[in-house]
Amino acid sequence: MVHWFNQKGHLSENTNGVVLMGKKEGTYLKTLRNIHERIQKKKGEVGEIEQEFLAEVKKEREMWIKVGRCTVCLTEGETEWHHIISQHRCREISKEYLIHSRTNVIEICRSCHDETTASLRRKHIEKNGGGAKTVKNPNGAMTIRQEEYIKKLGGENRITTNMTRGEASKLIDTLKEEGK
Ligand SMILES: [Zn+2]
Repeated sequence: MVHWFNQKGHLSENTNGVVLMGKKEGTYLKTLRNIHERIQKKKGEVGEIEQEFLAEVKKEREMWIKVGRCTVCLTEGETEWHHIISQHRCREISKEYLIHSRTNVIEICRSCHDETTASLRRKHIEKNGGGAKTVKNPNGAMTIRQEEYIKKLGGENRITTNMTRGEASKLIDTLKEEGK
C-alpha cells in the first residue's frame, strides 16, 4: 500500500492504494508553482525598477562636471572626484544611491585627495599588511562594478570569460600596482 499525505497532513490514497500524482490531495505542485510564479513576477518588477534607477544614475552622472579647480586648495589643473561619504560606507549603510549623487562628491587635486582621511586610512591598512583583503563570495561571477573598474584602469583586454570575483579583485590590484 502506498501512502501519501495531503495538504492538511492527512494520509491520502486512492481506492487501489495508488497515489495519483498531480491530484490536489497528493501533491503540493499547484502551491509550489503558484509561489514560484509570484516570485518570478516580483523579480521582473524589481528588474524594471533597477533599469529605471540606472537610467537616473546615468543622468545624475552627467551632473558630474569638473571645473578643473581643487575645491580645497583652489589649485587649477587636473582634479579627481572624492566621495565625502565613501563608496564603501554607502554600501554598508545601504545607501548605494549616494555613490552616484553629485551632492556626495567634491572635485579636488591629487595631492589634497592623498590627504583625505579615507586615503590615509587606506594607506595605513596597506602598510600594515591588510593587503589580503577578503572578497565576499570569491567564486561568484565578477561584478559589474569590478568590470567597470577594470576597464577604467585600462585592463579591459585582460578580462577573461567567466572571470570570478576573486580573480577580478586580483586583476584590479595588479592594474593598480602597474599604474603607480
Ligand atoms: Zn588641492
